[in-house]
Amino acid sequence: MQKVFITGGAGFIGSHLAESYIQQGCNVVALDDLSTGREENVAPLMASGRFKLIKDSVLDQKIVDELMQDCDVCYHLAAAVGVYTIVEKPLNSLMTNLKGTEVVLAAADKYQKKILIASTSEVYGKSNKFPFSEADDTIMGATDKSRWSYAYAKAIDEFMALAYHQEKKLPALVVRFFNTVGPRQTGRYGMVIPNFVRQALLNEDITIFGDGHQSRCFIYVGDVIDAVQRLVETPQALGQIINVGNNNLEISIEDLAKKIIELTGSKSKLTYIPYEKAYPLGFEDMERRVPDLFKIKKLIGFQPKVQLEEILQMVIAHKKTKLGDLYKY
Ligand code: UDP
Repeated sequence: MQKVFITGGAGFIGSHLAESYIQQGCNVVALDDLSTGREENVAPLMASGRFKLIKDSVLDQKIVDELMQDCDVCYHLAAAVGVYTIVEKPLNSLMTNLKGTEVVLAAADKYQKKILIASTSEVYGKSNKFPFSEADDTIMGATDKSRWSYAYAKAIDEFMALAYHQEKKLPALVVRFFNTVGPRQTGRYGMVIPNFVRQALLNEDITIFGDGHQSRCFIYVGDVIDAVQRLVETPQALGQIINVGNNNLEISIEDLAKKIIELTGSKSKLTYIPYEKAYPLGFEDMERRVPDLFKIKKLIGFQPKVQLEEILQMVIAHKKTKLGDLYKY
């Protein structure tokens, strides 16, 4: 029986990954400091008797070492995420995203464990060569705009993982997640879909930042889980950087808002908020972000399955059950 170690395992993507492995009969240990992760995301997994949540930080070398020694494969998903988190707490975010990865990679190297490092499409920065392909140049913003600290840190994480692979033969791979969405994602740290759905369900104004013409390609979290589980089982994926996204679901933020209003039957109105008001200093938005999926298709024949409307219906259904909590925002 496989033992899976997931850092950030109580978070949005981590909890879906843990759930899938539990359903497959594996043992899962999640390490999460619950900074953005939530115990309730994984509470239902406890009943299996094969899931354990360790509430601690990836910065704790001793704990990471112990958990790494005891696993067959590690997914390093723990990170400071969300635009608000990064812009408001840049120092803490940098520590987690740089030092945390350093600790996890060193432990994986010590025991020669297979490890997947989660990176992000933010690494492409302001590139306007579409679609974004793994070998493309990255165009990051100035270092006085703290949003970019996330992308720079993740880029260094990528360098570290590749260096371990090259110099120490560590079986490591890096995935660049594009806008991943689905039930359990919280809007608290800026993510657009949970925010719009909450606003629509409460008949509040839908807050579009900028003119709403910026677009994103969304991918369902279940498709992401399918991709990463297959990638870690693919020897040719080791030592690689791989986009995980959906190039079929591109939509402008304005159209997304309209679609959510339609699907919820909401009375919400659209309101346009200038970026200077929407975000604190140190923010720059991206106009567009589209993944090139050539590499992942070649490696595992990946084809995302879930359509945008289906994703939105799942998020709406999930948010409805949480409506009590929504008032606490
Ligand atoms: N956005 C918005 N209103 C919100 C939250 C986000 O218009 O309440 C916009 C945001 O400016 C960006 C897009 O939606 O252009 C996606 O934002 P998110 O934070 O979800 O992801 P990312 O910016 O990392 O792609």
